[in-house]
Amino acid sequence: MYSIKMRASQNSRHISGSEKIVTAQQLPDILHTVTKRALYHSLGQPDLINLKIQPVDKAEIICLPALQVTEHFSQTITENMQFIREKLAELIPGCCDDIIQLLNNMPQMRGAILYDVHTRQRCEKDLQRGIRVTYMDAEIDSGMLKNKNHFFEALILATKVAHAPGMLAELCISDDPDYVTGYFASLKHGYIRLSPVKEPGSSHGGRIFIFDSSEADAETVINYLEKTKVLVTDIKTDFHQRENIQDCIRTELLQLKKADLYRQLKIIETQQQKNITIANQPLLMFSSNSYLNLAAHPAVKQAAAEACLAWGAGSGGSRLTTGTNSLHVKLEAMLAELKHTESALLFNTGYTANVGVLSALADEDTVIFSDEYNHASIIDGCRLSKGRIIVYKHNDMQDLEKKINSIAFTKGILVSDSVFSMDGDILNLPKFVELGRKYQLLTIIDEAHATGVIGKTGKGAAEYYSYQAQPDIIIGTLSKALGSEGGFVCASAEIIEYLKNKARSFIFSTAQNPASLAAAIKSIELLNTQPDLVQKLQHNIRYFCQCLQKNKLAVQSDTAIIPVIIGSETAALSAAQTLYDKGFLIPAIRYPTVAKNTARLRITLMSSHTETELALLAREISQAVHKSTL
Ligand SMILES: *Cc1c(COP(=O)(O)O)cnc(C)c1O
Repeated sequence: MYSIKMRASQNSRHISGSEKIVTAQQLPDILHTVTKRALYHSLGQPDLINLKIQPVDKAEIICLPALQVTEHFSQTITENMQFIREKLAELIPGCCDDIIQLLNNMPQMRGAILYDVHTRQRCEKDLQRGIRVTYMDAEIDSGMLKNKNHFFEALILATKVAHAPGMLAELCISDDPDYVTGYFASLKHGYIRLSPVKEPGSSHGGRIFIFDSSEADAETVINYLEKTKVLVTDIKTDFHQRENIQDCIRTELLQLKKADLYRQLKIIETQQQKNITIANQPLLMFSSNSYLNLAAHPAVKQAAAEACLAWGAGSGGSRLTTGTNSLHVKLEAMLAELKHTESALLFNTGYTANVGVLSALADEDTVIFSDEYNHASIIDGCRLSKGRIIVYKHNDMQDLEKKINSIAFTKGILVSDSVFSMDGDILNLPKFVELGRKYQLLTIIDEAHATGVIGKTGKGAAEYYSYQAQPDIIIGTLSKALGSEGGFVCASAEIIEYLKNKARSFIFSTAQNPASLAAAIKSIELLNTQPDLVQKLQHNIRYFCQCLQKNKLAVQSDTAIIPVIIGSETAALSAAQTLYDKGFLIPAIRYPTVAKNTARLRITLMSSHTETELALLAREISQAVHKSTL
């Protein structure tokens, strides 16, 4: 077996420490964990990490059973102090007051106080440093050891201390300002968790070991505490600082409400179009993703209804079993053509497309370079993959290249929204693809807000940049401008074959229903044959930005997403409410969707909005923003 001791410090100030007794087999894993703990501590980055690894002879190790744990939670500190006093009196009649006084006036020290009831003296050799109990660990599997748990560590220490020769009891108050807990431990009483024993936020705390020098001399006790190797056995792993999850949920919800981050569903009583009603109030919709108003287009609805009658309501299986019908095949061919790729594959949503693609493509050897403003579904895909994630500055191709050059890797992926969903700006696709080619990285873009919106005929970012650049993979959704539901991936036939075999969100989910497929097919047909749809939307975007500028709001966008950044969550909510009361449905977008203090009104335009409506809205927004930030 090996003893590991880690101490991390910064300018000689202690940051963190830990120690373990482990088998040779566990050693590499534990070293990894321990080093990580030293590197990423809330107290700061260390400038010195001292790691000491020593072999220990198994015969030298004493195994001790963990103390029994009980809890004593009172309402007040006074009640707990009284409890401590009673327990002490049972063990040591006489010295109680001395000890309690010591406890209340404990100096800040790294180690513990060693108090002798026989002489009524402290017996640490160095009164500033105190006694440091070392060489101890629990005999539990290494998986558990990975989670630093203050309670386990305290229990291990208390068990070792309680078994010291001549030891009567130990008293501990956590010196962590975040905790108000402590414990009383003795062989007779076991380990009694106490809370509260101090005021929240106070860094008062420490340990007192109480022993009797008529039983064992101080030298022997100190030697045992500092040198004897102890493995604590029989720790009951079900005894943990358990918290009631329902209580946590309640607290979390309350906190969200307090911080104006609480979200609720709005129930819309009409179909998705610019004129809607909510709770019988007529509203003008400025937050739909149905940019081309295709969700409510008569021909699209007709196609969906007919497909439902002809093909049924559901698809009946996953794509690889019984769920593929000819609508899937037809739509995939149309999507490949739309995005100028060899092949395409449908997913149930854009979300599952991103999750499926990234998790299928990135393995342990892959680094994924991801824009800091990428959509949550990209972030989740990255997290679900085994790849290493490197986040670069928003749409900053210099930062991206710098990051590509700063790390060594074998396989790499670049992934970005092509139109960013909260800011409405457009990826620098030519440079993005150029970097991909230069460094042999696979390029992926997410066109959720680009399809049907940007490019001369609404085909997306590649068309917007006049086909100077074509990424390797284009991910999209049928649920926004195309007015239906579903996600898709366009790429080479080879990549698509790979995804059919590897993308779990494709494989293990039921295929899309016929109505959604037929609706999307009709929408793409309309996109291809009626260029005025996209032209009208693009006109509205230009016109509305001009209106905002006339109203002194410096907003510019080439996409249907037009953010008016306000800053504070509360002010953004208040502006959204003012507009709502005037009959405009515009959401306040807040943390965690966007960074804290960049809360905003996020206006989205539809091809069906009129100039009169847009001009009116620009004026109302200007007034509402002004009012909310007064
Ligand atoms: C909406 C969106 C998605 C998710 O698409 P769904 O089909 O709604 O699941 C993915 N990426 C981006 C950038 C989006 O805006």
